[in-house]
Amino acid sequence: MGLMRRLGVGSESESDSNEPYECRGCEASFTVRYQVCPECGGYTIERDDWD
Ligand SMILES: [Zn+2]
Repeated sequence: MGLMRRLGVGSESESDSNEPYECRGCEASFTVRYQVCPECGGYTIERDDWD
């Protein structure tokens, strides 16, 4: 915990997106997982490739 981890190392991700996190409230995409969406203030930010 607490260590920054690089994303996409080894190209293991199936997603081509460089912004894998998406706000469920306003659909904004982010490169990092915000706890609070800077666009709409929503708390529901999830990876868009989990399903
Ligand atoms: Zn949002």
